[in-house]
Amino acid sequence: MTSLVWFKRDLRLQDHQPLWHAVKEGAVLPVYIVEPDYWQQPDTSLRHWQYIAPALQQLNQQLTALGQPLLVVKGAATVVLRQLCQQFAIQGVFSHEETGNLWTYQRDLAVGRLLQSLHIPWHQYRQFAVFRKLVNRDNWFELADNWLKSPVCPTPETLPWLTATHDNIMSLPMHRGKDLPAISSLQKAADVHNTFNYFITTRSRYYRQHISSPAKAERSGSRLSPAISYGQLSMRQLQQQSLQALKHQTEPRQKQGLHAFFSRLRWHCHFMQKLEDEPAIEFFNMHRGFDGMREAEFNPALFKAWQNGQTGYPLIDAAMRCLLATGWLHFRGRAMLVAFASYHLWLHWRPIALHLAQCFVDYEPGIHYSQIQMQAGTTGINPNRMYNPVKQSQQKDADGQFIRQWLPELRQLPNSWLHTPWLLPPSLQQRYGCIIDVTYPAPIVDLQHAQQQARAKLGLWLNKRQKNQWQQQKLAVVQRHASRKRPAARTTAKSSNQLSFDW
Ligand SMILES: Cc1cc2nc3c(=O)[nH]c(=O)nc-3n(C[C@H](O)[C@H](O)[C@H](O)COP(=O)(O)OP(=O)(O)OC[C@H]3O[C@@H](n4cnc5c(N)ncnc54)[C@H](O)[C@@H]3O)c2cc1C
Repeated sequence: MTSLVWFKRDLRLQDHQPLWHAVKEGAVLPVYIVEPDYWQQPDTSLRHWQYIAPALQQLNQQLTALGQPLLVVKGAATVVLRQLCQQFAIQGVFSHEETGNLWTYQRDLAVGRLLQSLHIPWHQYRQFAVFRKLVNRDNWFELADNWLKSPVCPTPETLPWLTATHDNIMSLPMHRGKDLPAISSLQKAADVHNTFNYFITTRSRYYRQHISSPAKAERSGSRLSPAISYGQLSMRQLQQQSLQALKHQTEPRQKQGLHAFFSRLRWHCHFMQKLEDEPAIEFFNMHRGFDGMREAEFNPALFKAWQNGQTGYPLIDAAMRCLLATGWLHFRGRAMLVAFASYHLWLHWRPIALHLAQCFVDYEPGIHYSQIQMQAGTTGINPNRMYNPVKQSQQKDADGQFIRQWLPELRQLPNSWLHTPWLLPPSLQQRYGCIIDVTYPAPIVDLQHAQQQARAKLGLWLNKRQKNQWQQQKLAVVQRHASRKRPAARTTAKSSNQLSFDW
């Protein structure tokens, strides 16, 4: 019996149920498909591939060491799978379930139909605490907890031999996306286990303290997001190992850090479940009562300035330029970029989401669209977060380290002017080499006015809605997506054996 293991966003051998179960059946053909149509989608970008390609190479080395190299094929999944199933007389296809964008969902439906027509069973396994056809969110916490605590799957020691030819896995997929600048310091796909170990033993000590600091979050966060998004690390393994580390940790700050990290791993699955339950949130407002609120007012010039880090607000511009250059940004920076674009610039979240999806190396649709809608205020169940970019700048980057790193044109400015360079008198502009509207833009919107306008528009919109209907829609969102806070679970983890998850 020969089985085909289809690697998707699960580029690892550990805790890989499809591989383990396929090996038990006999010979295995491990396959990765580079799908040109996928790489044409507006939420994909070359930088995703820049991360995936070395991860595939590493996977290939690991599989080769077990006796069977990875076959990387370029083409539509249905075409490739049909051909391979015939060529290798495949009797079963094994893969993980995927909660992706609409395109991957439809691709999977097409693959399902194909395999059914070929009478080949497709065995799909869960890879996150995300449950298909979940009837009720009320039980999600228990389901997730049980699954995440369940035993991890063993790694096969050898793969039964089978002849397979190789494609050139480094050839880049076609891509029509806009040109993002080359990434100067792309996270390394090869180091993920070391990164995790170093984080839980050492860096987690500073995690909580620095999580919202633009300059420090980069070194104190786990930086595991691409490894989790492309499945190089198993979520179940990560959770179990962090829990063990947490239980044995006695140093208070590190314990706090590990606890906060552990909570975020749970958030990952909680957010992904939202997209699984309602794929439409990739395109439509979670609360449909917001439909039409921003669509008509889209201003391309404001969008372009935001996209290029040229808004005239230093922290916003530094965050965007950091993201364009590195492909990563800390949580608060991401939230602030979306909130500023949604409220101050009054832009619809969909183009914002696409631009950021292309920029984030760790793009994970399930987290991404849920978070974007939260920050844009269209869920109807989360408080509106209208960050003031000047206050954020003064509080979170008081010494200007982050701004100076990413905005060279402001480097000479003393701290007293750095957060509001447009207030510089002309004589000082010359002295500090920062000429407003020449070397650095004047603010593209007036802060106070933009905030008032956003509040007024939001208020007007809500006033015009029919209250009953609005409430019903809101209740439906709560029912479908809201986390169920359990009183017992909200107390913080004072004792190591009493864990809680602060949603
Ligand atoms: C608008 C917006 C879009 C986002 N898009 C993505 C995305 O496409 N992919 C992505 O992985 N994260 C996304 N996040 C969540 C978060 O910002 C990143 O996971 C985090 O910054 C990655 O850095 P890290 O690996 O050091 O995370 P850590 O802080 O060390 O957290 C560990 C892991 O927990 C998960 N996690 C952390 N924070 C969150 C969160 N708020 N919600 C859900 N899961 C979380 C991630 O898998 C992360 O790698 C987004 C946040 C916002 C506000």
